Amino acid sequence: MALVVQKYGGTSVGNLDKIANVAKKVIRTKEEGNDVVVVLSAMSGETDRLIQLAQKAADEPDPREYDALISTGEQVTVTLLAIMLNGMGCPAKSFLGFQVRVHTDQAFKKARILDVDTEAIRAELKKGIVVVVAGFQGIDPENNITTLGRGGSDTSAVALAAALKADVCDIYTDVDGVYTTDPNICSNARRLDRITYDEMLEMARAGAKVLQPRSVELAKKFNVPVYVKSSFTDEGGTLVTREEKEMEKEVVSGVTYDRDQAKITVIHVPDRPGVAARLFMPLSEKNILVDMIIQNASIQGHTDLTFTVSRKDIREATRIISEVVRDVGAEKLEVDDNVAKVSIIGVGMISHSGVAARMFDTLAREGINIMMISTSEIKVSCVVEAKYTELAVTVLHDAFGLGKEP
Ligand code: ASP
Ligand code: MG
Repeated sequence: MALVVQKYGGTSVGNLDKIANVAKKVIRTKEEGNDVVVVLSAMSGETDRLIQLAQKAADEPDPREYDALISTGEQVTVTLLAIMLNGMGCPAKSFLGFQVRVHTDQAFKKARILDVDTEAIRAELKKGIVVVVAGFQGIDPENNITTLGRGGSDTSAVALAAALKADVCDIYTDVDGVYTTDPNICSNARRLDRITYDEMLEMARAGAKVLQPRSVELAKKFNVPVYVKSSFTDEGGTLVTREEKEMEKEVVSGVTYDRDQAKITVIHVPDRPGVAARLFMPLSEKNILVDMIIQNASIQGHTDLTFTVSRKDIREATRIISEVVRDVGAEKLEVDDNVAKVSIIGVGMISHSGVAARMFDTLAREGINIMMISTSEIKVSCVVEAKYTELAVTVLHDAFGLGKEP
């Protein structure tokens, strides 16, 4: 008998028929003799709808109320599933974040889970009850409802699996696993049977939408085996796991892209100690994540500094940086949100040289200009003009031999 955490995404619970399909899968898992904890997202589109409502209600919605509002989509799905399971003769009980007590910090809209209480859930499991937990939400030290950032129910699932020491965490979604790239762009993309936590993390950070990056960080930290599977077929699946010797070390295992990028350039910044800190401290205080940063060589004591942020942060970032531009005596600020980030990822890069060069050469052959570059041990990312996204992904996928054999 195992303890299984199953998470179903928005498309898997998009309507009553789909929730009934989830109920059947849950019952099957239960009948195989497992304890089952289910974590759900809101119905697809629902969180977007709630966010739009909040934005119509006020220009800058109060963050506490905003989180309390946008977390409600999950309350609908968990209760519906529990109602259905009970109706089908399978005892089940729904829990919201505050009922489990999923403790988070106070960063509304992107709270981090600090700790998860397990007593309440364990007590139900002991009685043979299926526990259905609302993903994406938690509670801060002052009992305010918090949300975990878009896609956060993946993180809820992995955090619960870690806290409960579950045997496995299944993430059910509308694709049957993790692919070498987006199959909507490259029809010959291949499903990977396994991928390491580190590769998955880089892929998620570089824009692959399958898993929220934070969920992969947690899975790695607590060594939770995560299976990405389709809720509509039993075939396929990708296991996200730690690196094992027998895993073939592909030089490049995937190509990802991220259109949620905007580039800010601060022009003619005085080049002296403390200026970068002056620019980036206020952004971090507002929880704005800066992704890539480049600073040009200094000419006559001045330099240009370029960095990228998520498009949704562009207004706030521009406002903050405009003030700093004045304070530090920089010349001006330029914003370009017509960019995308394309990345190649693979653990084999550590032991192979020339991988980045091949990427640059491949892009150059198509006349694609690279505006920014960043690398890690297992990743190379380039910022390019947004209109080249598909082309860049396709040629890189081919150049690194990732497609299926024809
Ligand atoms: N419903 C939330 C969202 O749309 C959380 C999730 O789906 O994981 O972002
Ligand atoms: Mg998701």
